[in-house]
Amino acid sequence: MASEWGFSTEQVHAGVEPDEGHGARITPVYLSNGFLFDDFDQARDRFAGDDAGYIYTRYGNPTITGVERKLARLERGVEAIAVASGQAALTITFLALLNQGDHVVSARSIYEGTRGLLREDFPRFGITADFVADPGDRAALEAAIRPNTRAIFIETIPNPLNDVPDIALVAEVAHAHGIPVVIDNTLATPYHARPIEHGADIVVHSASKFLSGHGSAIGGVIVSSESEWAADAAGTGFAQRARALAGRFGPTLSPLNAFLLQQGIETLSLRMARQSAGALAVAQWLEGRPEVASVDYAGLASSPHRALAERYLENGAGAVFAFTLRGGEAAARGLIDRVVLWSRMTHLGDVRSLILHPRSTTHTHLTPAELEAFGVGPGMIRLSVGVEDVADLLADLDQALAGRHDA
Ligand SMILES: *Cc1c(COP(=O)(O)O)cnc(C)c1O
Repeated sequence: MASEWGFSTEQVHAGVEPDEGHGARITPVYLSNGFLFDDFDQARDRFAGDDAGYIYTRYGNPTITGVERKLARLERGVEAIAVASGQAALTITFLALLNQGDHVVSARSIYEGTRGLLREDFPRFGITADFVADPGDRAALEAAIRPNTRAIFIETIPNPLNDVPDIALVAEVAHAHGIPVVIDNTLATPYHARPIEHGADIVVHSASKFLSGHGSAIGGVIVSSESEWAADAAGTGFAQRARALAGRFGPTLSPLNAFLLQQGIETLSLRMARQSAGALAVAQWLEGRPEVASVDYAGLASSPHRALAERYLENGAGAVFAFTLRGGEAAARGLIDRVVLWSRMTHLGDVRSLILHPRSTTHTHLTPAELEAFGVGPGMIRLSVGVEDVADLLADLDQALAGRHDA
């Protein structure tokens, strides 16, 4: 790859190796669990690591390798490890960085599945976490770091609040303490942000969202930078350790899903540009509606997170945000039950527009005090804007807000 090619060129061409068998232009789906050894010595050499050929799909597969190379390049990392889901990517990342007795400092505003891992599952293995409300508050971040803190975790565009963190500040504080920074870049994708360029050491994704983009495949990816903190983590180098753990714990990405992911990434910039522009239009329209109390979209001029969004996000602020209706849960229920074009779903980053009531679904396990502190109220609605015509999306919201059924 020429180093000067643009994002849209790279999303199509990066990572694609010529197919030596039949000259296929697209990396095919290699639905084969194992790979033949020519002879006794080749089998031995592959297991010893002296021959780079494939052995068994849980350890590697050509379709998976192609998508890993593409994502490593797009994220400006050195190595990517594709796994079966975003949750698997987070689990393997934390297990590669942490030992029993270690501690994580996390932003408070994170995906609820990740909060569950850190708060409910890892403590059983002696790994604990503390959450800071604003990781860009240097004093608060410093105060949360302990002698046994081994990772700092944030998300580029947290949902539902869009409270974009100050990535460079977090990295500066973390590195001053010798701690790697892990960033979940799912909602921004490398089209809007490449956290490694701002000091992140490790980037994780739910590839089930915008990267695959069509709501048809679950997948995840871990990208390692060549920073000293990623290289030193756990002594062996983060990427090597994470790949070995993925092979042992076994959350293998299906080669079929790797192919769907590869196809999704080829149009990432087109979809992100369209969906982010659509999200801005929908957010601006909602802001002007009398039924709406507030809109949490970092791309709006009125957002308190606009300045950080402008610093860290390119070409728009993504397509996932929340807004709050004045009428509380009854108003939210009315709107959600009346839409006909928006899909009622807990998913994000699909070509279809999606709508959800966080308080009664993704955030239902939080205490009333937490919901209050997190800003997830009874009238809050989360949107993931798809590629449909904005006029149709607005017309559907309009009829649903007005309570008409004749749309
Ligand atoms: C969906 C999501 C995950 C989990 O990913 P899965 O692919 O569903 O396992 C993690 N982080 C963020 C920000 C997500 O949106």
